[in-house]
Amino acid sequence: MSGGGEHAQRIAGLIAGFLDDVPPLAPGEVALVGAGPGDPALLTLAAVSALSQAEVIVHDALVDDRILALAPPAAILEYAGKRGGKPSAKQADITLRLVAHARAGKRVVRLKGGDPFVFGRGGEEVLALSLEGVRFRVVPGLTSGLAGLAAAGIPATLREVNQAVILATGHAGTGEGGLDWAALAATGQPIVLYMAMASLAPIAAALIAGGLPPGTAAAVVASATTGREAVVVSTLSRIAEDAAAAGIDPPAIVAIGEIVAVRARLMGTARLIEAMR
Ligand code: SAH
Repeated sequence: MSGGGEHAQRIAGLIAGFLDDVPPLAPGEVALVGAGPGDPALLTLAAVSALSQAEVIVHDALVDDRILALAPPAAILEYAGKRGGKPSAKQADITLRLVAHARAGKRVVRLKGGDPFVFGRGGEEVLALSLEGVRFRVVPGLTSGLAGLAAAGIPATLREVNQAVILATGHAGTGEGGLDWAALAATGQPIVLYMAMASLAPIAAALIAGGLPPGTAAAVVASATTGREAVVVSTLSRIAEDAAAAGIDPPAIVAIGEIVAVRARLMGTARLIEAMR
C-alpha cells in the first residue's frame, strides 16, 4: 500500500476488522473458495480469511503459489487439479476426500480458480457435501470470463453495444453435447468462452455459419491477471490461427463481439496515463 503511515495503518485496521467479521471456519467445515483469475490482489477478504484458517487445502492446478502461501505453515496442501483434455473421472474421488477430511474434524478449504460456481464443478461438489451432511460455505471469487477480460481492457458490457453477455464453455466443442452455436450467434450478443482453446477453430466456424460476420472482433486472453498474461486480438475468422501462431497456452478466455474492439481505445488511454505518471 502506498501513502502515509497513518492512513496505511487505518486501512490495515479496517481490513483486520472486516476479516474479524467473517465467522471462523468450524472443525469439520468445508469452505468452497474462489481464488479469482490469478493475481493474489484479486482475492476476496473472505478467501484470505478461509485460507488463513485452513488445516487442509484441496486445490486446483490454476492456483498461484503466493495464494497457497496464505495457508498456515502446518496446513496440508493437496493437489486435485484436472486440466482440459484429461478424463475427469476423479471428480468423485475429490468429493470423497473432502468428506473424509471434514469427518476427521479438519477445517477444509476447497480452492478453485475464478469463481467456484462458474464452470468449476463447485456446484456438484457442494451438492455432494450437503447430501453427506457436511457443513460447508461458499466464498465467491472473481470469474476469469469477466475479471480476466476487464484486466485485459475488454468491458463485458457497453451501453451502446450489448444488453447481455453470454458466458459459455467450449469444452464440448461443436460435437455431440456441445452448444447450439448458431443460436448463440443469432443473439448478436458478445460471447465469452471458457475452456475453448482446443475447439476454437470449429467453434468460430460454427458461429460464422450461424450468421456472425467473419470480421467480428475476437480476442484471446491467456493467463489473465498473472505475469504470463498474453492477449491476441483478431477477427472471428482468424482468431484460432492467430492464437496458435502466437503460441498461446491455456488457460485462456475467448471474447467475441464488438466489446473487443473497444480495447484498442481503452488501452491507448491507459498507456497514456501510465506514461504521464
Ligand atoms: N471457475 C473458473 C473457471 C474454471 S474452467 C472461473 O470462474 O474463472 C477453467 C477455464 O477458465 C480455463 O479453461 C480458462 O478458459 C478459464 N481461466 C481460468 N483462469 C484463467 C486466467 N487466469 N486467464 C484466462 N482464462 C482463465
